[in-house]
Amino acid sequence: MGAFDIQAQVDKSWTLFLDRDGVINDEIVGSYITDWDEFRFCDGALEALKTLNEIFGNIVVVTNQRGVGRGIMSFETLKDISSRMTTEIEVNGGRIDKVYACTAVADTDHNRKPNTGMAIQAKEDFPQIDFKRSVMVGNSLSDMEFGKRMAMHTVFLTTKHAAHQLPHDLIDEQCSSLLTWAKTIKVAEVVG
Ligand SMILES: [Mg+2]
Repeated sequence: MGAFDIQAQVDKSWTLFLDRDGVINDEIVGSYITDWDEFRFCDGALEALKTLNEIFGNIVVVTNQRGVGRGIMSFETLKDISSRMTTEIEVNGGRIDKVYACTAVADTDHNRKPNTGMAIQAKEDFPQIDFKRSVMVGNSLSDMEFGKRMAMHTVFLTTKHAAHQLPHDLIDEQCSSLLTWAKTIKVAEVVG
């Protein structure tokens, strides 16, 4: 599916699934964000989330946070970061309906992306979610695989890894940042 197809279709019946690190906030490669003081929104992310809030019916975050399972930070700290992040997004006109975090260490854990447990949890909490009317935005191939396993449209952000050759089985679109991608939808909406 090409970029334009999706941009012309998206409305409030659609759900946006967002990875966190490298999508909403700057990723600390090789380490974890263990305190709110280390959390920095990506350039333009707050503006992007305001725009996306006007377009999508539901917006949820699905994030692997193995640092908790490894004992590098507590679950309480992770919850604190999620809640401050959500508040800051709301203050800036955006919205996150819920943050799902997988703290498991094992790649086999059903909630750890690319496994789809967090998508199933979101559907339980928000039964109106239709995975075929959902977009997954992330910056790793495991995010793309998570999305594709649920038949979502996938957007790969090149914030950590280099751009992939398209067409790609797991990637429908590729962008440099959440804001760049959000702007492509906004333009299509005005045109359409
Ligand atoms: Mg990431």
